[in-house]
Amino acid sequence: MKAEIISIGTELLLGEITDTNASYIASQLPLLGIDLLWVTQVGDNLGRMREILERAWDRSDLVLTTGGLGPTEDDLTREAIAEMLGEELSVDPEIERALRDFFSSRGYKMPESNIKQATLIPSAQAIPNPRGTAPGWWVERQGKILIAMPGPPSEMQRMWEKEVSLRLRQRLGHQIILSRTIKTFGFAEAAVDEMVSPLLSSANPTLAVYSKPDGIHLRLTAKAESKEEAEEMIAQREEKIRSLLGESIWGSDEETLEAVVGTLLTEKGLTLATMESCTGGLLASMITDVPGSSAYFKGGLVAYSNEVKVSYGVDAALLARHGAISPEVAGAMAEVARLRLGTDIGVGITGVAGPTEVEGKPIGTAHIAIDDGKEKRLAYGIYPPLRHEVKRRAALHALFELRKALLSLK
Ligand code: ATP
Ligand code: MG
Repeated sequence: MKAEIISIGTELLLGEITDTNASYIASQLPLLGIDLLWVTQVGDNLGRMREILERAWDRSDLVLTTGGLGPTEDDLTREAIAEMLGEELSVDPEIERALRDFFSSRGYKMPESNIKQATLIPSAQAIPNPRGTAPGWWVERQGKILIAMPGPPSEMQRMWEKEVSLRLRQRLGHQIILSRTIKTFGFAEAAVDEMVSPLLSSANPTLAVYSKPDGIHLRLTAKAESKEEAEEMIAQREEKIRSLLGESIWGSDEETLEAVVGTLLTEKGLTLATMESCTGGLLASMITDVPGSSAYFKGGLVAYSNEVKVSYGVDAALLARHGAISPEVAGAMAEVARLRLGTDIGVGITGVAGPTEVEGKPIGTAHIAIDDGKEKRLAYGIYPPLRHEVKRRAALHALFELRKALLSLK
């Protein structure tokens, strides 16, 4: 079933409100196995609403609108639907009675302008709206469905949960859509795309590759008659992806690198300290974004200048010999962090965030070291030469390497 959402309201076009109704509905449709193909926003203008509705009715099987069901003159959704279908609006006595009762139960007389909320067209049924005065419309004609819901999110969501989604589910049987996101770090988007290219043409489950702030994500989406069947389809495909991408995969779905690392440290009963130069404490900040991180994270040193690196214990001769932007100094920083703060593991990061080169090393260069007291693991990256990007990527890279190191520890 091809679905389309139309969000109605001039406030949307003026940027005064964000279209959370469309996002909400978009997040709900996959649970019903309905494909969403278009989302449109249109102002409170009868001609333009009619134009958008005509196009939607023509190309989609299910059209969902929100907004414009109020009692005022700029609430024109009912009028636009009636015009689009060439049907007459008339007051439905039952809705009128319910509407008058709604007002009188609150001690008010109904303003006569509200009567338009009691109108229907022959193809429409009213959908109850106990949170407001405007019932929704369920319109069915020629095998197509149009559902008009009120704009206020609490009214719309209640109508969706208690009425619309249930009726749609009955109508559609039980097909569901399930998604799983697999998260990688280290490869560029094009490289990941190429590695999984044989899987990209599959229609069910589908596979899509996205570049995200914490790496490249792969999203698998399966359509099936039951949740179990969809899960099985995804599991099989995920196994294949894992065999293709191996170590670059660090997590899935809602997981973050800092939380994954936190879980590993907790499981292994290990403590952590950091010493950062170019990332200026960002790594420590990310680590402490995880609730409960105090159980394993003892603290972080920010040693931005060479003097401070030396004052904490980095060997001045080593610094002079290799320069601050070097694997040797990253290693020394990791060790100093571990010894100074008395932890099992130390992480060191040193690099060039820009905007100018340092020691002849290009902007975006970073050296990372993980020291567990027995072994120093070193990693190196060159990231896009934008200050914030270098800091962010270097910190993520350090977490990624830390995860690998932790997995290899007994
Ligand atoms: P009312 O009876 O309140 O007039 P309505 O169905 O006519 O309801 P609108 O007038 O279009 O709806 O919008 C009413 C309010 O609902 C807006 O001011 C806004 O706060 C919220 N709203 C409308 N559309 C959206 C949307 N797409 N996303 C989020 N909020 C919305
Ligand atoms: Mg309104």
